[in-house]
Amino acid sequence: MSLQYKRIVLKLSGEALAGNNGMGIDLETIRNISYQIKKIHDLGVEVAIVVGGGNFWRGRSSKDMDRATSDYMGMLGTMMNALALQDALEKIDVITRVQSAIEMRQIAEPYIRRRAIRHLEKGRVVIFGAGTGNPFFSTDTTAALRAAEIEADVIFLAKKGVDGVYDSDPKLNKNAKKFDTLNYIDILNLGLGIMDSTATSLCMDNNIPLVVFGIDDPDNIVNVVLGKKIGTNIKG
Ligand code: UDP
Repeated sequence: MSLQYKRIVLKLSGEALAGNNGMGIDLETIRNISYQIKKIHDLGVEVAIVVGGGNFWRGRSSKDMDRATSDYMGMLGTMMNALALQDALEKIDVITRVQSAIEMRQIAEPYIRRRAIRHLEKGRVVIFGAGTGNPFFSTDTTAALRAAEIEADVIFLAKKGVDGVYDSDPKLNKNAKKFDTLNYIDILNLGLGIMDSTATSLCMDNNIPLVVFGIDDPDNIVNVVLGKKIGTNIKG
């Protein structure tokens, strides 16, 4: 098997960093994921990471709060994940830069597209925090946006508790059927809940391939980079 991609955006949901309790940060889980990131980095892949924040806060989870304020809290949560991931990667000698879409000069660089690309070219792993910087968006949309901006070859959507896209929720329906391949338009037409429609449309309009796979086995990150057929492949 050979290297399939030169530059990737890896989207890690907050849940993927949370271990089994679903909340907060599980350091062992982050360590395991970091080792896999190091492996693909050592293979020569340019790695940009978009982190979610659902392990701390989701904007839509509090109906009693102003939505924009709640979303900003969610974006702050992603920054905690970004810093934890940076720490874990640097502990195993992977050089990283965190770029935040909301300026926080003391802890991260601001997001600057050309600078992010330069970091990648120099072999640094770039971690994008604070989503798009705008309320009413998601970190899946951030992954689509950043992938388009930095001209990534693919987005890896690493999911916890599920290993691809199904026609119905496999946790509720044991006969749910997994798709090996899909087109973006199918996700929209069938209402498959793998990504929100903003993220899906952005990927579709910009022709960015996506691989959805399970992160419960962190080896999957390396396997996908090497072209092993796992998860669901989605194309324009
Ligand atoms: N968020 C936002 N704008 C963005 C990205 C994220 O407002 O561009 C907020 C939103 O409230 C979201 C939260 O940050 O619920 C955490 O992100 P997300 O739910 O995408 O994280 P994940 O589900 O991937 O852990």
